[in-house]
Amino acid sequence: MPDTPVRVRYAPSPTGAPHIGNIRTALFNWLFARHGGGSFVVRIEDTDVERKVPGALEEILDSLRWLNLDWDEGPEVGGSFGPYLQSQRLPLYKEMAERLVAQGDAYVCYCSPERLDEMRREQIQRKEPPRYDRRCRFLSAYERAELETQGLRSVVRFAIPLEGETTFHDLLRGDITYQNAVLDDFVLLKSDGYPTYHLANVTDDHLMQITHVMRAEEWIPSTPRHVLLYRALGFEPPLFAHMPMILGPDRSKLSKRHGATSLAAYREQGYLPEAIFNFLALLGWSYDERAEILSREEVVRSFTLERVGKTAAIFNIEKLDWMNGVYIRQLSVDQLADRLMPFLEAGLPPEAPRPLSREFVEKVVPLIQERLKKLDEAADLTSFLFVEKIRYDPHLLIGKNMTAAEALHALRISREKLAQSGSFDAAHLESIFRPLAEELKLKPGQLFGILRVATTGRTIAPPLFQTMEVLGRERCSRRIEEALTLLEPLAAG
Ligand code: GLU
Repeated sequence: MPDTPVRVRYAPSPTGAPHIGNIRTALFNWLFARHGGGSFVVRIEDTDVERKVPGALEEILDSLRWLNLDWDEGPEVGGSFGPYLQSQRLPLYKEMAERLVAQGDAYVCYCSPERLDEMRREQIQRKEPPRYDRRCRFLSAYERAELETQGLRSVVRFAIPLEGETTFHDLLRGDITYQNAVLDDFVLLKSDGYPTYHLANVTDDHLMQITHVMRAEEWIPSTPRHVLLYRALGFEPPLFAHMPMILGPDRSKLSKRHGATSLAAYREQGYLPEAIFNFLALLGWSYDERAEILSREEVVRSFTLERVGKTAAIFNIEKLDWMNGVYIRQLSVDQLADRLMPFLEAGLPPEAPRPLSREFVEKVVPLIQERLKKLDEAADLTSFLFVEKIRYDPHLLIGKNMTAAEALHALRISREKLAQSGSFDAAHLESIFRPLAEELKLKPGQLFGILRVATTGRTIAPPLFQTMEVLGRERCSRRIEEALTLLEPLAAG
């Protein structure tokens, strides 16, 4: 199909929060479409009524929007091949099923769920693969008419060729062949009138003129069934490319055990969409052997199937954390402040006055931008800047290899120096306290440590003098007073 414009689709089922692997499939389809000037279609496969989860559809669309993956056709935007929700296309599937029955490629099956269960149990006991025994496939016309009159619940099954094999071509893996004998007469139409995944998927990929089916590797066993269906319906099958699996660092399938698996969880932890985009693009695709930080435009420009791997991709969370840090550092102070506002609103202790001052947040940003890996770390890192009162163990005020009396003395002198200092900017503060350490015969780290605990309540905090500048003269002085009050009894005792 050299001249056919590329049409790919992302076909999620709204059965829960979208899994990160599923979003990777969406991304690869989107990239393939955008690279080739084709169309990216979103189709919602909501025919499994029991597994449908309220709100899941919205969450799927939200995830796409968050990653800035726009769709040309699908829910909300429409398109000329709609509707794009399978639950709104039931007559189309019914028609296909009837056509297959009429031409002898499918048949109505009246077997009860109880019979099927019993059969399955026996097959498992005999160590045979569980599958339908095709009883209804070979009913005589008379038997069929007889069963019809009983008003039994029935399904429509596909009649798999009893012999031979089915081969399809995978653009990444080459030819894949299945013996028809291992395929069972799978259900096309369920007793509730809904199609199965197989029937709906094939019908829609055909009617929506999808050129390339790019989906996860786990769907490979479905593909011979689909190919047989395409043939029976007289449709040209699309091209297939099955994307490599995503594994955890222990090489088992990515699951909850490896941490968060839904995209929403990553978003809530403060991963940036730009970082997730970049990271997911490299889960199974590579630009070259080395390139890691790639802009959206670069990925679109260079995305081809030739560079999609066959071997499983390893989800390395440390790499994602590193990448997120890189993207955080690329933001301007203003942009990072924007992104941090909701995380600070949610994460800072209740005693921090709300609404937060956006202007103050902008002052805080440079203190943490260098070391922030995830936006949700910001509240903890900076809470001492937003609350009035800090609480800490007074013993922290006494540095290593120092006595309480020495710490008290150093802090008293520091108070005086601060009171005399004209300006309160970081450089000036440093120019006061570095020489003071020497005067007091302390290592700079010892003196700075006391000041750090006194002003922030912590032994580890953002750079001291910048932090003091942001805190301001008044708050620093007050905190040092409080620290002196805490130290005095320790020095006396
Ligand atoms: N509805 C299937 C899913 O949830 C789609 C599989 C396919 O792309 O064919 O992944």
